[in-house]
Parts: sequence; C-alpha cells; structure tokens
Amino acid sequence: MLVVMKPQASEDDIRAVCEKIQVLGYRPHVMPGAERTAVGITGNHGPLDPAEFETLPNVAEAIRVSKPYKLVSREIKAENSVIRVGSGACEVTIGGKKLAIIAGPCAIESREQAFAAAERVRRAGARLFRGGAFKPRTSPYSFQGLGEEGLKILAEVRERFGLAIVTETIDSETCELVEEYADVLQVGARNMQNFSLLKRVGRSKKPVLLKRGMSATLEEFLMAAEYILSEGNYNVILCERGSRTFADHTRNTLDLSVIPGAKDLSHLPIIADPSHGTGRRDKVTPLARAAVAVGADGLIVEVHPHPDRALSDGFQSLYPEQFEELMAEVRAIAGVVGRTVPYGPEASEPATSSSDPAPSRRTAQPAP
Ligand code: PEP
Ligand code: MN
Repeated sequence: MLVVMKPQASEDDIRAVCEKIQVLGYRPHVMPGAERTAVGITGNHGPLDPAEFETLPNVAEAIRVSKPYKLVSREIKAENSVIRVGSGACEVTIGGKKLAIIAGPCAIESREQAFAAAERVRRAGARLFRGGAFKPRTSPYSFQGLGEEGLKILAEVRERFGLAIVTETIDSETCELVEEYADVLQVGARNMQNFSLLKRVGRSKKPVLLKRGMSATLEEFLMAAEYILSEGNYNVILCERGSRTFADHTRNTLDLSVIPGAKDLSHLPIIADPSHGTGRRDKVTPLARAAVAVGADGLIVEVHPHPDRALSDGFQSLYPEQFEELMAEVRAIAGVVGRTVPYGPEASEPATSSSDPAPSRRTAQPAP
C-alpha cells in the first residue's frame, strides 16, 4: 500500500504516518516527490485497510499498489529517480539529463594498467571508473582479481584522476571491504538472484549498480531491485548487460527494448553495458549508440590500455582511441534525444601530482 500525503503535509504529519505503520508491525518507506511525499508500506502479507491511514492528518489517499514490486514501481513514484554517486569533486548523478559514462577495464590487474586506463577514459569524458577487484569467473583457474590490493588501486585512481569508483561485490563476506573503497557497489549478472547479497547491499549506504541476470525477465529484474529497496537502500541503478540467446555472432544479445520497458514500470535509472552485451569489440560502439538512442541513462564500457594482454574480457575491451570515438558518437546521439554528455574531450595532460586530485579538470570542455 502507498499512503499519499497532501502537498501541504508537514514533517510531523509524515512522521505520524510512519509511526502508525510501525505500530502495525510493518515498514514505512518515505518517498519524497516533486509535488508530494508518499509513504510506501512493506512487510504486510495481506491487504491493508486504507481507512487506517486516510483518517490521519494531511493524508490525501491510501492506495493499493497493483504490481508485485512496490518500491521500484512508478505507481509509488511517478518521477524518475536521480541517484547521487561519489562525493566532493567526484560527485555525479545518474538518471537525469546528463548521461553517466562508466568506463575502465574488466579487472584491475596492476596500478600501471589501472592508471593508464583511468587517464584515457577521464580525458575522453568519463567521470566514473569501473574495474573488478573480485571477479566472478566461469573457471576457478582464471584470474580471480587482486582483492583488497585491487581496491586500494581503485582508491588511488579516485584520488588522482577524480573518478568515482564502480566495483563488484561478489558475496556478503567481502561486501564490507568493497564498501570501504567503492562509490558504487556492482552486483553482477550471476548474482542478480543472490537474495542474501541483495539484502546485504540493501543495508549499505552506497548506491548499487544491479546487473540483469543473463536469463532474467524484466519482472525478475525489478523484483531483485525490490529486495535492495525493501532493506532501505533506494539508490539503485539498473543495468542491461545482454541475455544468453541462440545467437552465435555475439556472446550475449543486448536487449535494448528492456530500457524503455523498465522505464515504463519503474522510476529507477537504467544504463546499458554494450561490452558484455555483445562480447565483441567491434560491436560495442554501435550498440552503445543504440542504447543511448532508446533512452539509456548511461553506459558502462570496458576499456583497456592493451586489450590483447588483458587478463579478462580482452576481446570485448576497447582500445582507448576506440573509446574516444565512442564518446564522440554517443555525444552526437545524446543531443538528438535531449540528453548530454557533460564532459570531455580534454587535451592530453597526464596526471602528475597526487596532491591535485583532478588534474585534467582545468581543461574540461562543456559538451557542445
Ligand atoms: C563485469 O562487469 O565485468 C561483469 C562480470 O559483468 P556481468 O556480471 O554483467 O557478467
Ligand atoms: Mn568483464
């Protein structure tokens, strides 16, 4: 159920609704909106009586939410959620007019590799850096990531290049460690229905990038996001990363229609991963363009300084020059659909001093 407050409702009126919900043994979720605040209720197993709430001061109405997912639903929040990520000089938003561009290698392999990637993606206009320190690999014999050492390198990247950090948490055991270093916790496709991990990141203060499982329906995807919101973390960014299909010309099939599909049903932002979504370097840029054209709120792209030497996903990683081209093309498409890519390209100016956290910011050019 959703308790919709009148526009003039005060903090005390909202608090009274929350207390009433708690007294009944349920959990309130305050969802501030542009025009009015709504309070979602979870934890009830049967229908609630709207009259219980409609008699409280400044309650406009109490309505049943028809969808199985509640807090992620547009029924509960009509306007798009804009998620704040990172802090200070690294703060960016995901879900507004500005596209969020996340780029970097599949895995952090060394300080040199991470710095080389960071320098190039920042210069091309990315303001979020990706890179796994804990890697979920199909083979137990494949490179599993550098663990905490990789997280420390990511923290250095943030300091030195002014990039917010997106990195994967693969299990509840190591989640606390990842949380210490990351600006955004990535939950991978293989963990989309790892319900204990979803609940764990739902209790985190950090935003979560939730990747769609490789055979998940849209409803299953939204239900996975609902797990995170139901624990109190409303900062979730959805990510389409391709499904396993009969296609053998690509690794996965990027489901572009899920982007407008998710936006119809949910207020959460959704970005696209054309790297895992195609698995082929030459398909990444065309699908990145397409994803922006269908309304994606951003992109997550694998970029490696030497893809031929990458320890994971080299065949789908872009060379830095290719990422620069991708950015130029995406910038042009963004303009057509009323979005912007707010940063870059910047002149070549390698980072020199760790006391200057964002050296190339001085040359930042606004998007045309
Ligand atoms: C990744 O982002 O490197 C990754 C492992 O992604 P996915 O979970 O989509 O396979
Ligand atoms: Mn990868």
